[in-house]
Amino acid sequence: MFKKILIANRGEIACRVAATARRMGIQTVAVYSDADTGAKHVQACDEAVHVGGSAPKDSYLQWQRILEAAKATGAEAVHPGYGFLSENEDFAKACAAAGLVFIGPPASAILAMGLKAESKRLMEAAGVPLVPGYHGADQDPALLQREADRIGYPALIKASAGGGGKGMRVVEKSEDFAAALASCKREAINSFGSDAVLIEKYVQRPRHIEIQVFGDTQGNCVYLFERDCSVQRRHQKVLEEAPAPGMTEALRAQMGAAAVAAAKAVNYVGAGTVEFIVEQTAYDQPESMKFFFMEMNTRLQVEHPVTEAITGLDLVEWQLRVASGEPLPLQQSEIRMTGHAIEARICAENPDNNFLPATGTLQVYRKPQAASFERSTIRIDDGVREGDTISPFYDSMVAKLIVHGDTREQALARLDTALAQTHIVGLNTNVQFLRHVVRSQAFVAAQLDTALIQRESAVLFKQDPVGLQAAAAAVIANALQAEAAAQGADPFSRRDGWQSHGNTRRRFELEYDGQPVRAVLTYGPQLLLQVGEGAESVFLFTPQGDGLWVQFNGQRTHSTVHAQGETCHVFTPQGATRIGLLDPLAHAGETAQEGGRLTAPMPGKVVSFAVKAGDKVKAGQPLAVMEAMKMEHTISAPKDGTVAELLYAPGDQVADGAELLKLAV
Ligand code: ADP
Ligand code: ADP
Ligand code: MG
Repeated sequence: MFKKILIANRGEIACRVAATARRMGIQTVAVYSDADTGAKHVQACDEAVHVGGSAPKDSYLQWQRILEAAKATGAEAVHPGYGFLSENEDFAKACAAAGLVFIGPPASAILAMGLKAESKRLMEAAGVPLVPGYHGADQDPALLQREADRIGYPALIKASAGGGGKGMRVVEKSEDFAAALASCKREAINSFGSDAVLIEKYVQRPRHIEIQVFGDTQGNCVYLFERDCSVQRRHQKVLEEAPAPGMTEALRAQMGAAAVAAAKAVNYVGAGTVEFIVEQTAYDQPESMKFFFMEMNTRLQVEHPVTEAITGLDLVEWQLRVASGEPLPLQQSEIRMTGHAIEARICAENPDNNFLPATGTLQVYRKPQAASFERSTIRIDDGVREGDTISPFYDSMVAKLIVHGDTREQALARLDTALAQTHIVGLNTNVQFLRHVVRSQAFVAAQLDTALIQRESAVLFKQDPVGLQAAAAAVIANALQAEAAAQGADPFSRRDGWQSHGNTRRRFELEYDGQPVRAVLTYGPQLLLQVGEGAESVFLFTPQGDGLWVQFNGQRTHSTVHAQGETCHVFTPQGATRIGLLDPLAHAGETAQEGGRLTAPMPGKVVSFAVKAGDKVKAGQPLAVMEAMKMEHTISAPKDGTVAELLYAPGDQVADGAELLKLAV
């Protein structure tokens, strides 16, 4: 076994690898960029080497420097994590040339599986079922159109070199094909440096079910069952679970055998995932499920903890053993699974605004009781701590929450509770959205397909299960409690000062959902509260844990309030919401906000402007495209007007809130 390894990654996966290495008595070397100087992964390792600037291309993709760091520190092997260099066959070769073990498959396997079209040709030869489609080398647009017409609509155009949900276009009808092809090719050449595409039938009611495989240098290969990753947004995974609901023993064995055949066809070594798209004629007819090869990911996946939860195995340990030349620890017949596991990806983003990635500081980051980087009923894998920043340079994932239960129902209940106990303040996250998905009838009933989020949008977005009354009661209770704490007295003694003329009233000015709301507190024999147009009702509260028990409107709710200036974040078991508690002094003489400024919604890079100075534009017309956190965002005109001036050029980096262009209205 190795004595020392270098981890060529950052964030949660670097911490994850370090945890297993430490347990196995292997020394670890971290690499880090400017932005990651004090990062959690640097502290998780025994040594750390600075490899460059904050942008990945200046640091985590600088493989020459990474190899030098490995040499300088005496590391024998390099773990690439996922993303970055993990699927770069040149890097795998360079490791070997430098006398280092690349903890991953042979470069030839990465190459063979790296291009979607090439890998399909290989899989076809190996007898693995493929989605009906075209993956030929001839890229003549007229031929591609004919192929799409032959395959039928809806069809899917995919960038052959694509990944991460980018470079895919669904085409509904033949007339739309040419435009979709052109736009797909544009994105593909910009993102992947090649505009080759393939065409597939767009599978109806598709489920994404993938098989974890493992190979060793002795030629053994096994599968560690499946993960269902059907719940997606923008073709990217949101929730992953194992086993796949409705999976039968027979189908599992067939898919497992196909995945092993796929891996063996490229002499696979180490951890890999064979992704299948599964067609179903109805949600409740597992016998109708038909699977087709989509692609193979030649690395450890983000969602590997789900497999660890059901098998009890440590996949990073297996990777290290296999890379050091040991045979697989178990044979196929010895691999068992128990219970049900689900992973939720907690991301910095705004689900109510098309999942726009968010950046910011984790001013509050409270987690449920959980283990990290090892199997547990509740497990949280993350690479950040309270006070850390989610920057625009890297992925928007904050943490992975993984739960395990005896049954799916139990796992779902645990996930919901654990999400309720996850309090993040300082940036937008999808935590509440995840709860809505986990509690939705469709997900509970396992009516899974990749369109679940779209299909259920009416119950998933813009929900507020807390409501004004409970939110107002929570912030007022919190404010009174804070006042009392500051005065060293219990909140009720305070009423004496207000009671000189019988019942005394106190007003609170709130802001909820953009609207001003007044609340009136009446001090008397008992405390009474009225919020907005609601009824006056008895109001009681007592501190409990990091929050308060609040009784109002005949309901008793545990609430935790994190105030940031006037904005209060209220967390209850039902959900979380935001409510303003205004300081009356601060709002004297406030002027109206000026509208119509065209600003960057987040820090990032200007990709292009769709207009030039002097152009007349209509409300809603796209004006500029920004790229931030690996996604493109279009900025549209808020109203009709004339473009007065462009304030940046394509390629410029802009700060959050920077004015991009001036629009005269
Ligand atoms: P999977 O294929 O396992 O479902 P995704 O493709 O959604 O996972 O996410 C993995 C992607 O995350 C990588 O392909 C890469 O774009 C991105 N990524 C790269 N490095 C990191 C990192 N250190 N932390 C989080 N995400 C990363
Ligand atoms: P990536 O490289 O981003 O992982 P994939 O080719 O694995 O891209 O596809 C990502 C997702 O796109 C799948 O999980 C699925 O939701 C959807 N998808 C891919 N191919 C098809 C298809 N032929 N029909 C329907 N959906 C598909
Ligand atoms: Mg994929």
